[in-house]
Amino acid sequence: MLSKLAFPGNGAAHPLTGAVWAKYFSGQNEFTANKSSNYAAAFFAGAVSHFAYDVYGNFEPRAGTWELAYFSVEGIVGAYFLFPLWKKEPALFWGSVGAMVPDIEHTINIFDKRKFPTHNGMVPHGERENFCQGALENLVMNSFSYYLLTQDSKNIGRYQFGMNINIWNGHNIVDDGIHHTVYKTVSPVSAGIALRFHLRHNRFFEFYSTTWMKRAPDISGLDYPIRKMVQSYYLSYNRKLSTRGIEPFVGLGCGVFLWGDSNPVNKGDVSFVTYQKSEYRLVMSGGIDFDLNRNTTIVISYRFQSPSLGYTSARVSPVAEWTPGLAVLQNFF
Ligand SMILES: [Zn+2]
Repeated sequence: MLSKLAFPGNGAAHPLTGAVWAKYFSGQNEFTANKSSNYAAAFFAGAVSHFAYDVYGNFEPRAGTWELAYFSVEGIVGAYFLFPLWKKEPALFWGSVGAMVPDIEHTINIFDKRKFPTHNGMVPHGERENFCQGALENLVMNSFSYYLLTQDSKNIGRYQFGMNINIWNGHNIVDDGIHHTVYKTVSPVSAGIALRFHLRHNRFFEFYSTTWMKRAPDISGLDYPIRKMVQSYYLSYNRKLSTRGIEPFVGLGCGVFLWGDSNPVNKGDVSFVTYQKSEYRLVMSGGIDFDLNRNTTIVISYRFQSPSLGYTSARVSPVAEWTPGLAVLQNFF
């Protein structure tokens, strides 16, 4: 599998998202601009974005296919859009470089084994099976990244971006004549990104993505076991019930949940997770917002994800989830 992976497999997504991470997460501002220490921070932010994107997953074209030609063209188009931004803000260039460097080991054997955590089997690398889904994902990610890169970061308060962690508690419906519902913790923690758009002072849309990894029992002869992964993406409409420092809220949303297993691999190989199953669910939430200061909000929430409303592919299981969660959101423009 190794030699068949190709360098431009992710099109323009790594350099674009790397520049976004450099812009918002490496301490760039008017005082630190054009300092070489900040280029190093931008480079590091770019490399972290590569890790996050690999876990998130994309379509992986194989060498010599027309799909690879498509993503190569996307990469060139991306560079065309990035060039003026790189010229204006060199930190963005270093973010893009940091985001591209990890994939060099797919093309050139620098070390005897691959080193990057999503390339050596340590952490599974997400993979979309369907080319159209992969191309669409890149189009959305790239356009949104370009939009963020061209925004003026002084216009604070309309958008918030941050990290969230959740505890998943699933329940199985056991049909033993009585219709039992058995609650159990299916995974300790999932982590992901959160994005909020403020509509008005007490109403907002939010987007959450979470990924959790669970190890299946070890398989003999393999260094890394199979991991089960779930990603959830949903859009929720939330309404704050008060607008003083501590703000309770309720919300309603819906989204898609993707399920996949990683390949069992030997050390040094890429552990891909292919998301084969997906389902639609309703999401109901309640919680409290704490405004730490003008720029930072802590969100403590409890979300109920309904059993599947329908399946986009294979049937999974009629399981609902209760997920207590904690998110830290930062105003970013
Ligand atoms: Zn990679």
